[in-house]
Amino acid sequence: MYEMIIKNGFVIDGTGKDPYISDVGINDGKIVCIGECHDNCELIINADGKIVSPGFIDAHTHSEIPLLVDGSTTTALRQGCTSLCVGNCGNSNFPIVEKNREYYEDLISKEFQFSMEKQKIHFEDFSSYKNALNKSGVTVNVIPLVGYDEIRSAAIGVTDAVPDSEQLDLMKHYLSQALEQGVFGMSTGLEYAPQIFSTTEDLIELSKILALQKRLYISHIRNMYDDLVGGIEEALQIGRETGVQLHLSHMQVNGYKYKGSVTDAVSVIEKAVSDGIKITYDFHPWTGGMSPSIKPLPAWVKTGGNQEIVKKLSDPSLAAKIKKEMQENPYYARYEDMFFPSLKNPDISGKFLTEIADILHVDPIDALFFVIIDEGGSCLMIEFTMYEEDIKAALSYPESVIGSDNFAVPEGMHSNHPRHVCCFPYMIEKYVNKEKIVSLPEMISKMTGKTASIFGLKDRGLIKEGQWADIVIFDAENITSNMDYKKPDAKPTGISYVIVNGEIVYENGEATEKRPGKVLEPSGQHILS
Ligand SMILES: [Zn+2]
Repeated sequence: MYEMIIKNGFVIDGTGKDPYISDVGINDGKIVCIGECHDNCELIINADGKIVSPGFIDAHTHSEIPLLVDGSTTTALRQGCTSLCVGNCGNSNFPIVEKNREYYEDLISKEFQFSMEKQKIHFEDFSSYKNALNKSGVTVNVIPLVGYDEIRSAAIGVTDAVPDSEQLDLMKHYLSQALEQGVFGMSTGLEYAPQIFSTTEDLIELSKILALQKRLYISHIRNMYDDLVGGIEEALQIGRETGVQLHLSHMQVNGYKYKGSVTDAVSVIEKAVSDGIKITYDFHPWTGGMSPSIKPLPAWVKTGGNQEIVKKLSDPSLAAKIKKEMQENPYYARYEDMFFPSLKNPDISGKFLTEIADILHVDPIDALFFVIIDEGGSCLMIEFTMYEEDIKAALSYPESVIGSDNFAVPEGMHSNHPRHVCCFPYMIEKYVNKEKIVSLPEMISKMTGKTASIFGLKDRGLIKEGQWADIVIFDAENITSNMDYKKPDAKPTGISYVIVNGEIVYENGEATEKRPGKVLEPSGQHILS
């Protein structure tokens, strides 16, 4: 007896093995038949000529709040995703203590650029966030992490201080509480304030708890510019001293000068693995990263809020001083690498800074000042400071997995960056179909089975009897990402069906109304343990 049979597809099972033709029978949310599944079941999907693969697991997203705003997660479904890891780069939306609430609300409204005032988006602990998700319902499964930023700030405030032993105990308390309530690990974003003020010793103390509970230490490392390997070494030290399982976020290097460093990073990781350290990483295919347009300004100019910044740049003598400083200390990204996807002024929107400078007949620094003033202090830009050779180096390591670094953009909201809409189809289209760098089964395993192993998901990530029926059905040869930094809302095509826990959540270009997603629970097991 089956609730659904997927007939005659090419099954790619998530292990990296070659495809085979088979039916897949589903009952009670799980895969119960592989081979010939005979039944006169009502729901038969004809997958003739299509790939039937485990649903994609996005190892790295920032969707913790978008999931509350719009549980349909259509942008994730269009890419074939059935599970999202949320709470990355050290930021989760809990534990938020009252004294920090305003700070985080302000941060989120700036970062996500959508109005959330009326929504309850910050929570005192993981349980209350989980309850809110369960109440509103989600289409996909959720793999939650707790952020180091929130743990630290709950204990000592948003400050550059180093915690004393009492405060460290309080941090341990917040971490233990989140682990007890069911998060898969702790994420860090050591490049960002206030996390930048962490010490390796604090992180080791917290990681001891993670190791004991068999949960992950997931790190956006301290340096992804001129000392990528140094940042990795810090994580390795934490791993060595505590035995915690390490996972590095978005393996990348930023800046023309450091192009090629990912190759060195991968060698360091291979060596660590051969020495017995438990370490993995995820990566994305983007050469362009989002940054606030004020990022290239000297630190003193960026203080005091948007109005203050506009005031400084509008004062001719101050502007001249700032310009001189910027000329003397060049920013790591080149002006021809800075792209403004969406500005109020249509004449300069969708252009590189050097193009804007030509239009305005000024030099690039003055053009940047013009943009910032025109936008009232800040807007987002894309900096093309990452390079194909580094993406390919990250891809070449067999154990690497895919994480889009996106958030599931709520329907109707402008996306700003293609990472939000097309990561997984783009990986297949570019590196499997066009460049033929990896085989399709190998690529699929980096999106499914291997990712499931890292998070210890024993019953997901594979097409196998007994697994939850998280499945994507797609046309491998005709999958199209429509990836275009100039059209960041363009939708990928080629994904026919997405099934979560045995229910169809996406069918021929549209999300269904169903919300069968679950907040997943850690099993305490990892492939590497
Ligand atoms: Zn990050």
